[in-house]
Amino acid sequence: MQFTHEHREIQKTLKRFIDEEINPHVDEWEAAEIFPAHEVFKKMGNLGLLGLCKPEEYGGAGLDYSYSLAMAEALGHIHCGGVPMAIGVQTDMCTPALARYGSEELKRNFLAPAIAGDMVGCIGVSEPAAGSDVSGIKSVARKDGDDYVITGQKMWITNSLQADWMCMLVNTGEGPVHKNKSLVMVPMRDGPGGKLTKGIEVAQKIRKIGMHSSDTGLIYFDEVRVPQRYRIGAEGQGFIYQMQQF
Ligand SMILES: Cc1cc2nc3c(=O)[nH]c(=O)nc-3n(C[C@H](O)[C@H](O)[C@H](O)COP(=O)(O)OP(=O)(O)OC[C@H]3O[C@@H](n4cnc5c(N)ncnc54)[C@H](O)[C@@H]3O)c2cc1C
Repeated sequence: MQFTHEHREIQKTLKRFIDEEINPHVDEWEAAEIFPAHEVFKKMGNLGLLGLCKPEEYGGAGLDYSYSLAMAEALGHIHCGGVPMAIGVQTDMCTPALARYGSEELKRNFLAPAIAGDMVGCIGVSEPAAGSDVSGIKSVARKDGDDYVITGQKMWITNSLQADWMCMLVNTGEGPVHKNKSLVMVPMRDGPGGKLTKGIEVAQKIRKIGMHSSDTGLIYFDEVRVPQRYRIGAEGQGFIYQMQQF
């Protein structure tokens, strides 16, 4: 693939941003084992860097995926692994299914603020007993009226200590393990950077042997109530959507 002038210009903008706003703080953030995701993402959102391949009606640039590759290459200019990983989760791991299958309401409430850098997102798939084997997740959403009531836990979740929402894979029914799951948008706080939603507990900040500046959490869900309309796309298609999103 050959980069065009436009790809190079985006890389230049990103590298300048990294030199001025990220690299001078990397040592401090690595030592603190966290970086200020809301602050960094807001600045990136202002530069239009969090939605290169997302639809223009939600604040994205509507470009093709080659621009995400150009961005990923330029993120290698950051002097650590944790911050680029956190950015990658926001742009390419927790938002693709939302952009592709989410309702208008979900895209307005969660995607547009993620692209603008006003909200930090995370992707909740892995659990203590389900890593590579995604189909083995145990978290459950039972129906109660118009809501899902979610109980379970998610482990090793990047950005989760600071996240405003989680795109969560959860069992929403009985039946074959590849057809009983849904992706549900779970608001984790009462507003950007606000108080945790009732029933959500950040149980542990997990220490790692590298990528220290990205926060990695163990999150408990105890009867967390979410409207069923916060489900992304069709019920029971979550495993498929998640494999596409990976
Ligand atoms: C820094 C970091 C950030 C992460 N962020 C997130 C996140 O944001 N959201 C999220 O949901 N998860 C996250 N994870 C979890 C990650 O997705 C899991 O670690 C991954 O899925 C592997 O699962 P596991 O660690 O349980 O390893 P296991 O699944 O137990 O695998 C252990 C080893 O066995 C091998 N193995 C497993 N199954 C097979 C098989 N069938 N055949 C042959 N070999 C096999 C694997 O390749 C691996 O080498 C993160 C992990 C890390 C380390």
